[in-house]
Amino acid sequence: MLDKECKDPDFESTIVSIFPHTDVNRMLDPANTGASALVIMKSIEEERGKTYRTINTFEPSFFEHVETWKDTRTGHRPQSYQDYKKDKIEKIIGRIANTFPKYKDHINVVDSASVLTFRDYLNNPDGSAYGVKQKINQFNLLGKLPLRNLHAAGQSSVLPGIIGAMMSSFIVGRTILEKEKYNKFLNRNLCN
Ligand SMILES: Cc1cc2nc3c(=O)[nH]c(=O)nc-3n(C[C@H](O)[C@H](O)[C@H](O)COP(=O)(O)OP(=O)(O)OC[C@H]3O[C@@H](n4cnc5c(N)ncnc54)[C@H](O)[C@@H]3O)c2cc1C
Repeated sequence: MLDKECKDPDFESTIVSIFPHTDVNRMLDPANTGASALVIMKSIEEERGKTYRTINTFEPSFFEHVETWKDTRTGHRPQSYQDYKKDKIEKIIGRIANTFPKYKDHINVVDSASVLTFRDYLNNPDGSAYGVKQKINQFNLLGKLPLRNLHAAGQSSVLPGIIGAMMSSFIVGRTILEKEKYNKFLNRNLCN
């Protein structure tokens, strides 16, 4: 988050993707120790009547990078893991400052997450951001379940990611509501 002292009247919601070179395979190779891709998302957020200028950044990361701490759980990780995250944060802040020099010294870090964070908070195997791996013979838990009033929707019910979460919620909505009511709901909310 940017502090109030940071003057930037042109701050707007944008996404900047930084690719240090054109070799995508190298950037997505866990063994790559060179510069990686970085996505910088600037956004203006309103919360309880206040406006905040936020920056979210994403960098490719792999289970191999955090394997040393694979047997630890959130809230109980050793100092070496804290140091790993601190080092990552500092380097990413440096890259943000290189791209937007006026934000240098004005960034307040609110939170940071590693591959292990996603594994332990989202229960995703290997800490993948998008959820479980999709395989040809995989049967996901979806829609009405054989227990009264229990339905499954969300990430990886149908597909990974936001589209998967959205599509599975449509399926659950249609199961619960009658066709006509459901169509009206969709028309009202999505077709205008
Ligand atoms: C870094 C990152 C980048 C991503 N980028 C993309 C992308 O570019 N495109 C894309 O398609 N997908 C992306 N995803 C994946 C996408 O964000 C998820 O697939 C999607 O948000 C899943 O939606 P959901 O509703 O199933 O779960 P969530 O959005 O995780 O919502 C679950 C909610 O339940 C709440 N909750 C959990 N436990 C409880 C409880 N016990 N009681 C009450 N509430 C609870 C949580 O706080 C959360 O608000 C990304 C994910 C990450 C982590």
